[in-house]
Amino acid sequence: MITLALSKGRIFDETLPLLAAAGIEVLEDPETSRKLILATNQPGVRVVLVRATDVPTYVEYGGADLGVTGRDTLIEHGGQGLYQPLDLKIAQCRMSVAVPSDFDYASAVRQGSRLKVATKYTTIAREFFASKGVHVDLIKLYGSMELAPLTGLADAIVDLVSTGKTLQANNLVEVERIMDISSRLVVNQAALKLKQAAIRPILDAFSNAIEKNA
Ligand code: ATP
Ligand code: MG
Repeated sequence: MITLALSKGRIFDETLPLLAAAGIEVLEDPETSRKLILATNQPGVRVVLVRATDVPTYVEYGGADLGVTGRDTLIEHGGQGLYQPLDLKIAQCRMSVAVPSDFDYASAVRQGSRLKVATKYTTIAREFFASKGVHVDLIKLYGSMELAPLTGLADAIVDLVSTGKTLQANNLVEVERIMDISSRLVVNQAALKLKQAAIRPILDAFSNAIEKNA
């Protein structure tokens, strides 16, 4: 049995066409079913639904053989124990710094001010500001980062941006692009060896499908 860990929403939706290319069809809709284990048309393949941030943990410890997870989540997790064979080029967005439109970020940085930065992505934010030589106090949040500068909790946020509409709706502007983000396939290292015969064809089909999309 091969177990694939996915999170509900965009990662699940955007992985479906890749699974189809591998001849795998998920038999239940996670938006209507309450099940956390979903059968597929292949008796030897199942999908488990976990929180986006839990996907690397499931795959690292063998709760799942394979998983799909954002580069953001992988960096924060550390990626230890995971084989990362493919950038699936799905769930594409970017990690950025944003501030209220009336905050002069450039001069704050120039003057060497200490910045209060709210984010769910403390590893990425810490490394980014350290590389710029900017001193920051990081405030760890688990969601709704946009609210932090509006309430005085922080001067800036580090968050994922795709269209920029959420920032705009909250009077925030993007002032730095830290990195491009997309989702990757991750594989449990032991499973890759022990279940090669089942995993290899899935990797090959995903890889061919990505090339066609490119
Ligand atoms: P949860 O809702 O369980 O707390 P989450 O909010 O991190 O988790 P999603 O918002 O579905 O879950 O994000 C999952 C992954 O999708 C992220 O880790 C990121 O790689 C990617 N992602 C997030 N936001 C966007 C976006 N606006 N556009 C494209 N991809 C995105
Ligand atoms: Mg979410």
